[in-house]
Amino acid sequence: MDLSRFPRRRYTPFATPLEPLPRFSAALAASCPGGRAPEVWVKRDDMLGLFPGGNKTRKLEFLVADALAQGADTLVTCGAPQSNHCRITLAAAVKEGLRCRFVIEERVPDSYDLHASGNNFMFRLLGVEAVTVVPAGTNMADAMAKVVAELAAAGRKGYVIPGGGSNALGGLGYVACALELQQQCFEMGLRFDRVVVGSGSSGTHGGLLAGFLGDRIDIPIVGIGVSRDPADQEPLVWKEAQAVVDLIGAGFTVPREAVRSVGGYWQPKYSVPNARMVEAVQLAARTEGLLLDPVYTGKIMAGLIGLARAGEFKGGERVLFLHTGGLPSLHAYEGAVLGEVPVAP
Ligand SMILES: *Cc1c(COP(=O)(O)O)cnc(C)c1O
Repeated sequence: MDLSRFPRRRYTPFATPLEPLPRFSAALAASCPGGRAPEVWVKRDDMLGLFPGGNKTRKLEFLVADALAQGADTLVTCGAPQSNHCRITLAAAVKEGLRCRFVIEERVPDSYDLHASGNNFMFRLLGVEAVTVVPAGTNMADAMAKVVAELAAAGRKGYVIPGGGSNALGGLGYVACALELQQQCFEMGLRFDRVVVGSGSSGTHGGLLAGFLGDRIDIPIVGIGVSRDPADQEPLVWKEAQAVVDLIGAGFTVPREAVRSVGGYWQPKYSVPNARMVEAVQLAARTEGLLLDPVYTGKIMAGLIGLARAGEFKGGERVLFLHTGGLPSLHAYEGAVLGEVPVAP
């Protein structure tokens, strides 16, 4: 797939590393029936550029380039209180000399604390221009349009980036990741049997799938839902993948059966810790020195572990875990990930 006609800013001057996780894989094997344990590798998208980078960095390369092409002076986006997407969008704005405003969805009334740690602390450190806090269930597109109207009234130009950066343009970031991965596998003589990714606002899962299908990369992708079970998540991912294919003009229909997600690992709620997440975060930290975050990658790795224990992978199957970042929020959940604060089962 040819992305060269799309304007792009470059925020990561290298391909993110592909690394084997031998000690993690051995520890996992000890808990898998019949030795049917996968050989787990990681793609380090937690090392992407912007501070500290994660999957949103790839989407923003295309979204911010579009904002600049349109002459915007302010990025307007939205998210949850500990949003990685908001933090990385703000970092991109700072780097480009733009200003940045957020609409934050407060899931629990009166819970938003401007002085909270983790990502929230960084919102202030990086200098967000304004934060509008709205109650759960608010139409975020409308709320962001209001911010853009306020800017226009002051003679400024806002550019709206949807939640998670997941529209067709943002999804190009994960088509680029698919191409990067293909080249790395070619150079390293590596072959993967499966790729495990997080599936939330769906730009990552949908963009990667569009890239795999478009470039005939024949590796099944399993998305681990971070906020929805498959009946709700898979249609979103399909829609995103198809929108990306259409934007590129690749001219094919994404087969519905190519979209697979797994539920059951994000409960009791998005961003609320559970015991399997704690196990996954501790296992990766203590076998490989690899940090995962409590909201996304801890639950996504819990999904990989759960699938391995359920016999999903053939013995020796090589599985790639996409580390999408999110590490600053670890500091907002220190007691939970250390097992010192009780969490949901
Ligand atoms: C946003 C995010 C995800 C989910 O990616 P989507 O493209 O929204 O599906 C996964 N991991 C981390 C750390 C994230 O910040």
